[in-house]
Amino acid sequence: MRVLKHLFDNNRAWATNIKQHDPDFFGKLAAQQSPEYLWIGCADSRVPANEIIGLLPGEVFVHRNVANIVVHTDFNCLSCIQYAVEMLQVKHIIVCGHYGCGGVKAATQANQLGLIDNWLRHIKDIYQKYQDSLDAIPDETDRVDRLCELNVIEQVNNVCHTTIVQSAWSRGQALAVHGWIYDLHDGLLQDLDVCITRPEEIPSLYRMDIHRTR
Ligand code: ZN
Repeated sequence: MRVLKHLFDNNRAWATNIKQHDPDFFGKLAAQQSPEYLWIGCADSRVPANEIIGLLPGEVFVHRNVANIVVHTDFNCLSCIQYAVEMLQVKHIIVCGHYGCGGVKAATQANQLGLIDNWLRHIKDIYQKYQDSLDAIPDETDRVDRLCELNVIEQVNNVCHTTIVQSAWSRGQALAVHGWIYDLHDGLLQDLDVCITRPEEIPSLYRMDIHRTR
C-alpha cells in the first residue's frame, strides 16, 4: 500500500490499541449500533464529533455539512435524522456549531464562491432576520460569532419543525433537541440553552396535527 500509507499505519495502530483494551470491541459493534445521540455539526476538520465529546465508535450518530445547516428539503440530512430517530431511537439530537465558522463568515460577505453560495444563502436569510441586532455589533469577529450562535438556534428550530421529530413526539418517544457551540480556541462546548423537548415549544404555524394527517 503506497498511497497514503501513513493513514493505514495510523488505522492499524488505532485498532490494535482499542482491541488491547477490549478484545470484543469491534465484534460487538459490528453486530449492532445503539447510539443515544445524533450529532449535526459543521464539516470543519477542527470539530470532530466523537473526540470533542469523548465518545467511542458506536456512541454517536453523525451528520456533518458546511455550517451545520438543516434544510427542510435536504434529503441527506433528513434521512440521517429519520434513521437516527426511528431506527436507532436516539434520545438526543445535538446541533453543534462553532465560533469562527468559515461558512458562516462567508455568508456575511459578498464574494462569489460558486455552488456553495446557494447553500450559504440559508445563513444570509438568518442574518437578515436578525439584521438590526447583528449590525449593532461593531467588531466583525464578534458579529460572525453571534451569527454562529443564531445559526445553531435556527437549525434547532428547523430540526423540530420536521415531520420526523414531530411524529416521534406524537408517538410518545422521548426526544430532546439541543443547541451547542464549540470554541476552537479552548476546545470547550457551550450549551446555548435552547433545548426543545415537545411540540408545545415550537410556534403553532410549524406544529403539525400528526394524527389527522397520518
Ligand atoms: Zn464551520
